[in-house]
Amino acid sequence: MDLLKKISFLFVFFTFVFPLYAFDVDELLDGDGLSSGFTHFLRIGIKTDVVSFSLEGDAGIFDKKERAVGEIQGHVTVSALQGGIKVGSKVFNENMLKFTSELIPLKFEGRMFRGEIEVHLKNSKLIVVNKLDIEDYVKGVINKEAIPSWPVEAKKTQAVLARTFAVYQKMFNPRSEFFDLAPTVLDQVYDGLGKEDVTSVEAVNATRGEVITLGNDPAKIYFHSTCGGTISSSAEIWKKDEPHLQELHCPYCTKSSLYRWKRNLKATDIAKKLGVKSVKSISTVRGKTRVDSVVVDGKKIPVNKFRELVGFSVIWSNDFTVAKSGANFVFSGKGAGHGVGVCQWGMAGMAAQGKNHYEILKFYLKGIEIRKMY
Ligand SMILES: [Zn+2]
Repeated sequence: MDLLKKISFLFVFFTFVFPLYAFDVDELLDGDGLSSGFTHFLRIGIKTDVVSFSLEGDAGIFDKKERAVGEIQGHVTVSALQGGIKVGSKVFNENMLKFTSELIPLKFEGRMFRGEIEVHLKNSKLIVVNKLDIEDYVKGVINKEAIPSWPVEAKKTQAVLARTFAVYQKMFNPRSEFFDLAPTVLDQVYDGLGKEDVTSVEAVNATRGEVITLGNDPAKIYFHSTCGGTISSSAEIWKKDEPHLQELHCPYCTKSSLYRWKRNLKATDIAKKLGVKSVKSISTVRGKTRVDSVVVDGKKIPVNKFRELVGFSVIWSNDFTVAKSGANFVFSGKGAGHGVGVCQWGMAGMAAQGKNHYEILKFYLKGIEIRKMY
């Protein structure tokens, strides 16, 4: 019911308040009938709980009723007051202000952001939200998640993944009443438009509005750097069966520098990281395709906890063997990441062999469709 209400609210808001952004008729690549009425705006919480921040640009200031209440030119400091927001030397008795620049993106703390900057006052602190078109957001994130030199079909694949992730979070799992996504690894790393380049913009434009769906909803998608040869099912890794996240053989990620890896670690260093006096033996308990838990001197630790303690960029994946070598332990592993969903080096390998982004996504994600949402 909540979702329905939200969707109908968005529809009314969209149709009457933002007619400029009205959709084309649903132009679906597969099947039909995906959540019409979805507005393609996202709200990213770029900073929360701050007392002040710097803003730069030529922008109009609007209150929550969309009334123009002032403007800024150049650099100003925005700060929280008891019951108001101070912009430069001017005090606004408001709990929300919006800064809109028509032409040049605003600079927040020295970084450029497309779209609008909204500021909310809560408990005498500020929540800073960048509200922008999903397409502009995707342009900003794909080079944080993909290697800039990958072929354009790999970037298109990443663009559809990033867009689907954002749409899913906005519809089903927004972070707070003020914003849909965090700008960190909690969601996707987003830092404004500083990371955009020609191929990322091309990849986003070429896939405009395309979203991965399961049934009539955006799919919850997962990707990781390198599977090392085997994609694992979500049933094995997270004990939750998802139809599109199944086990499969991936022959495409061999160019990844982490396709195979080795780490030689001192037992004393491992002990320090695990917070124990010493480590005499380490062995692994495997599930169907990957390590499920690590046994250290008889004590079982879930593999992800072990990786977190020793270091996610030391023990690169959850697929490894371990052998004792004098005062050291040698970890020999395959791939990087959790191994579920799309293998990113695999998608780059498939793209290099001439596969397009639809073929790539359908290879990794079983039973999905790719539809144009707007
Ligand atoms: Zn792979």
